Amino acid sequence: MIRFVIALSFGLMMAAPASAQTLAKELFGRLEAASNQSSAALGSYAKGCLAGGAELAENGATWQAMRLSRNRNWAHPDMLAFIERLSRKAARLTGWSGIYVGDMSQPRGGPMLTGHASHQIGLDADIWMLPPDRLNLTRRERENLSSISMRREGGAFVNENWTPQHMALLKAAASDKAVARIFVFPGAKVQMCKDAKGNRDWLRKIRPWWGHHTHFHVRLACPKGAKNCVDQAPPPPGDGCAAAQKWVDDILNPPEHDPHPTTPRREYVLADLPNQCAAVLQSR
Ligand SMILES: [Zn+2]
Repeated sequence: MIRFVIALSFGLMMAAPASAQTLAKELFGRLEAASNQSSAALGSYAKGCLAGGAELAENGATWQAMRLSRNRNWAHPDMLAFIERLSRKAARLTGWSGIYVGDMSQPRGGPMLTGHASHQIGLDADIWMLPPDRLNLTRRERENLSSISMRREGGAFVNENWTPQHMALLKAAASDKAVARIFVFPGAKVQMCKDAKGNRDWLRKIRPWWGHHTHFHVRLACPKGAKNCVDQAPPPPGDGCAAAQKWVDDILNPPEHDPHPTTPRREYVLADLPNQCAAVLQSR
């Protein structure tokens, strides 16, 4: 038995030689299953990992998980509950039978080999802007179908694909108590600022960002009482509409200096992540 265990661990070491310099994305980006632990979001959205990840069913009554080959339909169970809630609301909108769910996290979260700086702790999800007219797409269709863009003039405005239902869906997502922020292109935020009637509190959570014109990105707050989960500072008070308008103005008349610089960061090794992420990697 002992010999078997040694042989097994030696085999694993040979399969994935890891040193202190091995990038965390190499370690987390190749694991196919969740850790056998209770669920926990560990660290922060762009620097952490996910214990006991839960897999979003490939098909639900009101959703489908897209691009299954990426194996990024994993999340904290709170996110799965959110997808269930939001998709039920989506299914009541004209032209929407539910939602197409894009990338969430890897089975054990962590940095990815491609794309996304965040999505590391199971609390981020991309929701496609394409209204699903059917929810029986095959695996193959889910690889080949693409979402649609909502933007015009580099994201300064929405285009003809944008509908009141898109606003209703974003409002429903932003009104959900579990949600901390939603990222979408600046033109969409400004359009919603113009069209919003009555209470505007929900607009505060909707933040302009680069990209995010074929999907919007939902970020949940850390689950209540989660000790090792690090929340992002809350958005500034107010509806954020002036800030979004400034983004739009900067797109239309780019200032000399980039007003929203994205600082490139060093790639993480395991030691950069919370200590608990080592156990997440090792769990069988
Ligand atoms: Zn995203």
